[in-house]
Amino acid sequence: MYYDPVETMDRAALENIQAERLRETIEIAKRSPFYAERLKGIEPGDIKTPADVAGLPFTTKEDLRGQYPHGLLTRPLEDFVRLHASSGTTGSPVAIFYTRKDLDTWADLMARSMFCCGCRRSDVLQNTSGYGLFTGGLGIHYGSERLGMLTIPAGTGNTKRQIKLIRDHNVTVLHIIPSFALYFAQKVREEGYDPKDMPWRIALIGAEPHTEEARRKIERQMHIKAYNCYGLSEMNGPGVAFECEHQNGMHLWEDAYIPEIINPETGEHVAEGEVGELVMTTLRRDGMPIIRYRTRDLTRFLPGQCECGRTHRRIDRISGRADDMMILKGVNIYPMQVEQCLMTMPEVGQSYLIELIREGVSDQMRVKVEIKDEYFVEDMRALQGLQKRIAKNLCNEILVTPRVELCQSNSIPKAAGKAVRVVDLRDKE
Ligand code: AMP
Ligand code: ZN
Repeated sequence: MYYDPVETMDRAALENIQAERLRETIEIAKRSPFYAERLKGIEPGDIKTPADVAGLPFTTKEDLRGQYPHGLLTRPLEDFVRLHASSGTTGSPVAIFYTRKDLDTWADLMARSMFCCGCRRSDVLQNTSGYGLFTGGLGIHYGSERLGMLTIPAGTGNTKRQIKLIRDHNVTVLHIIPSFALYFAQKVREEGYDPKDMPWRIALIGAEPHTEEARRKIERQMHIKAYNCYGLSEMNGPGVAFECEHQNGMHLWEDAYIPEIINPETGEHVAEGEVGELVMTTLRRDGMPIIRYRTRDLTRFLPGQCECGRTHRRIDRISGRADDMMILKGVNIYPMQVEQCLMTMPEVGQSYLIELIREGVSDQMRVKVEIKDEYFVEDMRALQGLQKRIAKNLCNEILVTPRVELCQSNSIPKAAGKAVRVVDLRDKE
């Protein structure tokens, strides 16, 4: 069952659509002050196949910041009806503008994405994302309505009320960020309910990097099927790539985006199947098209056909961001390696935090790990043993031995939105 026939279109036809839309995109983009300049000398007719995208210049986050607020708009401001902003915590903001047609396209892509992992119009969706500038609020909301689901805009916080809404209205689909999901499962139990008895069956989890181990943990603790969903404001928001019922990578909607994977250092395409930085070109954005956007997100194309019959290529879960990498004692480390290791240990609770500290002249990593209540005992020896085991397992994964600090459940502060996994205290302690 598919939402849109384009999902199973044969590759040659799909590539024809891509080439045609890329020509259109270049033509439209050149109406903006930024691309009028950046695409000088490039004509739509230069594009024969989608692979020709590789001849176009990149667009970076710095470009978007430099053009803030209106430099990429292809139309007068009165043609736009919505603005979202990227959640970056540093630097000047990036604003994304949508025309009515853009919102319509986005809602369709979102509805298609949710259908793809099993949502149907008879489902009831509760959205626990913040309804603000973050695209996970309104983006999921309008997609869900487009699919025809009863949609509950619960927003963040007030877990007690969230649980009541879920029970009262038979919520079957939950949109929840992964770092909140485990906390949520625990709250459900604290309220006296068994997650098994909750009406839900599907969790849409995305917006932040998480490992396969974290997904499985969420599935077990919530008694739910969790599907990875990927997107970013610059490419509309959620609904760029989504898992199907096979949960083996995310189909990236190639009628709406041309994806490329490059070596972030050289800008060249990596070999098929290798990990690199995802670069995307919008094919269906009217008001603010973006060409060859450097997402900084690291992933790879997964080989082969998916059993579901969709022909759009799949990307692997995002393993981190090109700018996430920490270098400690000469070793490159990504936060997701730490998560992957922690989430396989049964004693580990919901949350963790990586702190970069300075000890004397050298940099060190301190990992704070929440431990499940039943393992947080008074036996000093048992705790020290656990601490050592965590340090050793981490060392096997990241090749340096971090300091490990065991923490009680819920003692690591939670960010309001996306989780903060790394803090740099090197010049602060
Ligand atoms: P924003 O535009 O503020 O919503 O942030 C988008 C960024 O969130 C992406 O570039 C990714 O770094 C991250 N992100 C979104 N969805 C996922 C996902 N499913 N897995 C990992 N990271 C994600
Ligand atoms: Zn599939």
